[in-house]
Amino acid sequence: MIKYDTRKIRPNESISIDTTVDIAMPRGFDAADTAVAVVGSLKNAGGRFVLDARADCLLVSACSRCLVPVEYRLSFHIDENFVEEDEAADEDIEFSDHVIDIYPAIFRNFLLNIPMKPLCAEDCAGLCPGCGKDLNQGDCDCAEEVNEQFSKLLQFFSD
Ligand SMILES: [Zn+2]
Ligand SMILES: [Zn+2]
Repeated sequence: MIKYDTRKIRPNESISIDTTVDIAMPRGFDAADTAVAVVGSLKNAGGRFVLDARADCLLVSACSRCLVPVEYRLSFHIDENFVEEDEAADEDIEFSDHVIDIYPAIFRNFLLNIPMKPLCAEDCAGLCPGCGKDLNQGDCDCAEEVNEQFSKLLQFFSD
C-alpha cells in the first residue's frame, strides 16, 4: 500500500510521487509480483485529488502461441481521480479518513495495459496442435502426414 495524507497537500498544490509498487500478478504470468516504478504527481484539485503519473515495469509471461517465457517492458500512463467517500462518481476512486492509497489506481491501469496475448515474435509459428512441437524449431511430422493425406485426396479426385 502506498498511502498519502491528503491534509498535507494544499488546494491547487501537488506533491511529487516517485515510488515503486509491487503489483500482485494475475494468473498466467510467471512472476508472483512485479515492481512497477511510478513517477508523477498527486494534485489537490479542490475536492478531488488527481494522480497523474507514468508507470514502468518489466513483465515476464508465456508467449500465447509457443509458451516460451517472454520478457518485455510495459509503460503506461495513469490519470485517476480520488474523491472522498459518498461524493465519488463511478469512475472515481474513493478514499476516506484523509488517506489516499494509490495502489488501486496503479493496479487498475496495469490490468488495462497488459497485453492479453503476448508474443515472443510477431511471426511466432506456435506449437503444432497435433504433436505439440515448437514449430519455430522446424516442421514436425504431422505436417507431412497431412500433406500425404492431402495428396491422396488430390489423386482420388483426379482419377
Ligand atoms: Zn512464441
Ligand atoms: Zn506436429
